[in-house]
Amino acid sequence: MQLKQDFFEQLPEFYSQVFPLGISNPHWLAWSQDAADLLAINAPTESLLQGLSGNAAIDGASYYAQVYSGHQFGGYSSQLGDGRSIILGEALGPQGAWDVALKGGGPTPYSRHGDGRAVMRSAVREFLISEALHHLHVPTTRALAVIGSDLPVWRETQEAAAITVRLARSHIRFGHFEFFCHSERGAPDKLKQLLNFTIKQHYPDLSCDALGYKAWFARVVADTAKMIAHWQTIGFAHGVMNTDNMSILGDTFDFGPFAFLDTFKEDFICNHSDPEGRYAFGQQPGIGLWNLQRLAQALTPIIPSDDLVAALNLYQVELVQQYLVLMRPKLGLTTTYQCVEQDQSDLELIGGFTTLMEKNHLDHTNTWRRFGLLDPNACSSALRDDFVDLNGFDTWYQAYQMRLGKVDEVHQWQVARNQVNPKYVLRNYLAQEAIIAVEEGNLTPLHQLQKVLQTPFDEQAEFEHLAKRPPDWGQGLIMSCSS
Ligand code: AMP
Ligand code: MG
Repeated sequence: MQLKQDFFEQLPEFYSQVFPLGISNPHWLAWSQDAADLLAINAPTESLLQGLSGNAAIDGASYYAQVYSGHQFGGYSSQLGDGRSIILGEALGPQGAWDVALKGGGPTPYSRHGDGRAVMRSAVREFLISEALHHLHVPTTRALAVIGSDLPVWRETQEAAAITVRLARSHIRFGHFEFFCHSERGAPDKLKQLLNFTIKQHYPDLSCDALGYKAWFARVVADTAKMIAHWQTIGFAHGVMNTDNMSILGDTFDFGPFAFLDTFKEDFICNHSDPEGRYAFGQQPGIGLWNLQRLAQALTPIIPSDDLVAALNLYQVELVQQYLVLMRPKLGLTTTYQCVEQDQSDLELIGGFTTLMEKNHLDHTNTWRRFGLLDPNACSSALRDDFVDLNGFDTWYQAYQMRLGKVDEVHQWQVARNQVNPKYVLRNYLAQEAIIAVEEGNLTPLHQLQKVLQTPFDEQAEFEHLAKRPPDWGQGLIMSCSS
């Protein structure tokens, strides 16, 4: 791994240097060669293991933790920061640079009362979901590896600490801008410094002036809308959409009690600490806007509010457009007309289907996958048998066929549906089974799951069972933020 001087070091007020304390008996629990290729790393070596566990220094590493703040569950927390994540710096890869971070690497000046560690179950979940989302084509941070250890940590009971090695195009969050707007260390010139840094690093086509700032914020709005459109399309609930967990680049970021929908439910809540459903599945688009408004607020000292409002006003349009771009192929609606009426009527058609799914308690992923079995020219359909409300389904199906028109190459059409409707997603119960096996010393289920999720659109006959709805014990598993 080739680390270069991290430009973030040009912003000394934005971080504290901190060295990892190391862990006892580090060992690889999981490794993503796909992510390793991003850094031109050929294999998980012993020296890399010692370096990434914090037991040995890595050449060229900067070792720092960032300061930020953020709105958590609607309220402002003025002093957050990387409490359990130590950034090594930027690693150069064949297609660009990636920040490398040791999540669970040890205490930092921002750990408050925490121990700076992550437990194995949360490290494994972050690893699996990062790589799974990537292979579902969802913008996300990546994960290189999970390192297990003998280091005991206390949560509700004693558990073993682990480290997820996270790769991120950037670790800059909405909360960074909030910190330098609202804190006593903040000032317009600090905000500007951060914004100029962000633009130079990640938006090379934009200038660091009023025009560039305006275009930049519009880009952040659009990228956030795009990320959330992806989530709504594949049935992913993030669970903790606090502004400190929002990447400025629109990558899915900082995983906690996330979940995929099993049975479709708009008001599905995956976070034990969110009984009121602030971050319920169906609330995510609205929360995306709320979070962008908090970011805009933090930027008012340096960007005219008219420019900020103009960009915010485009959020919903961007989100709907992206949602349609992703949703139409799932239904096979290949002909599109660029007009508001068509968009509206397609949204109603899609909404009609998800409402039916919800009313009939159907599984989100498996129901969409059924489109790959459909003969769209036939009156009766492979989907119909799943519905209890047959009249409701027939009415919807008629409208769908009218919109679709005649399909000439049915087989080709079906193959194309399977390329956008995944068969395998990281259901909570699957992650849970893999974690229990790791606790028992068996890494095979974890590695199998990782492998299956690398090609989620392919039929994988020997892993058919991993596409099943959860068994009774695995239904409605609600995770806590406990990390
Ligand atoms: P999260 O819910 O993971 O986004 O964390 C929210 C905040 O709590 C962040 O500032 C984290 O760095 C901090 N935090 C979470 N877990 C720990 C821990 N075990 N030790 C120290 N800080 C933590
Ligand atoms: Mg966080």
